[in-house]
Amino acid sequence: MPDAPAPGPGGAAAGAAAPLLELDRRHVWHPYGPMPGREDPLVVESASGVRLRLAEPAAGRRELVDGMASWWSAVHGYNHPVLNTAARDQLDRMSHVMFGGLTHEPAVRLARLLAEVTPEGLEHVFLADSGSVAVEVALKMCLQYWRSLGRPEKRRLLTWRGGYHGDTWHAMSVCDPEGGMHQLWSGALPRQIFAEAPPPGFDAEPDPAYERGLRELIARHAHEVAAVIVEPVVQGAGGMRFHAPGLLRVLREACDEHGVLLIFDEIATGFGRTGALFAAGHAGITPDVMCLGKALTGGYLTLAATLCTPRVAEGISRGEVPVLAHGPTFMGNPLAAAVAEASVRLLLEGDWAGEVKRIEAGLREGLAPAAELPGVREVRVLGAIGVIQLDHPADMAAATRAAVSAGVWLRPFRDLIYTMPPYVTADEDVALICAAARAAASAG
Ligand SMILES: *Cc1c(COP(=O)(O)O)cnc(C)c1O
Repeated sequence: MPDAPAPGPGGAAAGAAAPLLELDRRHVWHPYGPMPGREDPLVVESASGVRLRLAEPAAGRRELVDGMASWWSAVHGYNHPVLNTAARDQLDRMSHVMFGGLTHEPAVRLARLLAEVTPEGLEHVFLADSGSVAVEVALKMCLQYWRSLGRPEKRRLLTWRGGYHGDTWHAMSVCDPEGGMHQLWSGALPRQIFAEAPPPGFDAEPDPAYERGLRELIARHAHEVAAVIVEPVVQGAGGMRFHAPGLLRVLREACDEHGVLLIFDEIATGFGRTGALFAAGHAGITPDVMCLGKALTGGYLTLAATLCTPRVAEGISRGEVPVLAHGPTFMGNPLAAAVAEASVRLLLEGDWAGEVKRIEAGLREGLAPAAELPGVREVRVLGAIGVIQLDHPADMAAATRAAVSAGVWLRPFRDLIYTMPPYVTADEDVALICAAARAAASAG
């Protein structure tokens, strides 16, 4: 690797942002980045609607349409008046107060709303500070449930390959073991049980051999497994793959039959992204535990939630240690909870299903021609998610630069150029995102 920083997506920075970038490179870690940084990030000055405004032009563009919704989260776009008001109103009351021994209206209202809108049966809500922590809490709940019932040997986890559940330790152990991000730790992490990746395709015909294998694996390991954890319908950062909702029913049945809990990680899929309010809805089932995050606050603040059924909560509370031993300092943060409630209500009061359908149609139309490009393996769309999979690893710098030249922010990874835009993205901007994704696929 060269010592000198590579030029960023817009080319070498020389203008007003240069001093900031110099300090950034020297002091600031970025996601999955080296230190000092090698890549010049773009400096964002402000954001409004679906547009990011840069501190200085990159590839001739001062404004970029955001095709990433800040990693699935900014579903209403940026600088939204309703969410701004919710944040300001709460700020004037209190931005934070500890949650041990104290409670407050924003957290209580949010918990009640989440219990109402999530699948029937999820009643209890643990508010955590990020998605990875919500996954840790979900795993802890399930292990502790079995410990409380006198079955401490049920402490392993089972999942299928191709998943992603976060970057903290136990969450990493259920990510795809060969998926690239975490294989570094393969000898150090707890060893979990992996089924083959689910057969691809939301509309795929049932695959009896795969389903039988899944049931057998769960049956064989049930004596030592606390829970099955999966991302329902869409596997996100593990490879942007879709699978048939029917498989979730297979998991539900096998878990019930063999005494294993079922966790759905809906951190990416929750709040309408796949065309159902929660992906579990495609299968019409309720998991024992569900994780939410990302779009929970509309992309404003970090907050996540782990929901569970009364069976799980009562099991834990009847145990030798009758408490859930978890309590982050910023648990239930009032500012984040107030914005989250406003964001979920804004979603429900609007026509989110219609908007997601409209974006789905735009993505299908705009990305279809990419299937004919050299180096493209597959184009797939589900809900407000569009994916171009290449037959080789993307040249990230070249692909990003091509998208920026087209006026769009995209962040490819591995062999994937993908988009999950805010639901408020207008048809012209969806078309622009598709054109940029095609340009990125050609360039990268
Ligand atoms: C992003 C993500 C996480 C981790 O959430 P963070 O807030 O980044 O910790 C976990 N699971 C899934 C499915 C995700 O998409």
